[in-house]
Amino acid sequence: MTTILLVEDEPGLQEALIYNLQRQQYTVEAVGDGQAAVEAARRLHPNLDLIILDVMLPRLDGFEVCRILRQEMSIPIVMLTARDDEIDRVVGLEIGADDYVTKPFSMREFLARIKAHLRRERRLQADSAAADAAANEVLRFNNLTIDLTRREVALNNIPLALKPKEYELLLFLAQRRGQALSRERLLEYVWGWEFSGNTRTVDVHVRWLREKIEPDPSQPVRIVTVRGSGYRFEG
Ligand code: CA
Repeated sequence: MTTILLVEDEPGLQEALIYNLQRQQYTVEAVGDGQAAVEAARRLHPNLDLIILDVMLPRLDGFEVCRILRQEMSIPIVMLTARDDEIDRVVGLEIGADDYVTKPFSMREFLARIKAHLRRERRLQADSAAADAAANEVLRFNNLTIDLTRREVALNNIPLALKPKEYELLLFLAQRRGQALSRERLLEYVWGWEFSGNTRTVDVHVRWLREKIEPDPSQPVRIVTVRGSGYRFEG
């Protein structure tokens, strides 16, 4: 059973989304303001699979809700945005959303995107279960270690505070050491964005990772840029 929390204060749109999501056999919990969204997410977690979150909401706005929930849970959050300035903030991803959909949107594409996120989340969970099974699997690259079981990255044995997406991006690159990976492929695997081509997200996360793992982030030697293509992990 898949449970989705829908946070949308516009009654007409809320109703249409509930109807369409339920037709996909999802269980939908709908709320109309930011404070109720935080409470509902806490109540439903860990049996919550995805959050659809409008930006403009009464009480707490969607950015604030996303920021709060991101610190507590790692489930996919898809933002609903209406204005360009909102899109810029979501795409900048300082708030940690997984994806965004711009209003007005095609219901068909929207549902396909939700489905892609759920599928990707299941795959990640399966990967992490497989990692658990491979007891104590640790990737080592000189002074950098990635502990797959604990989902922990350390530099000189000191654990680094990585955001979930930073970890997934680093792991994906590290498991394909020496291979040039396009931004599109990274975007699809790590973010599940099969429909939108905003590769700036990848660049922003690579920059954050470099600041944490590179001896000199301005002269990267671990995650190198492949001209005209994407990135390559060197070790
Ligand atoms: Ca709204």
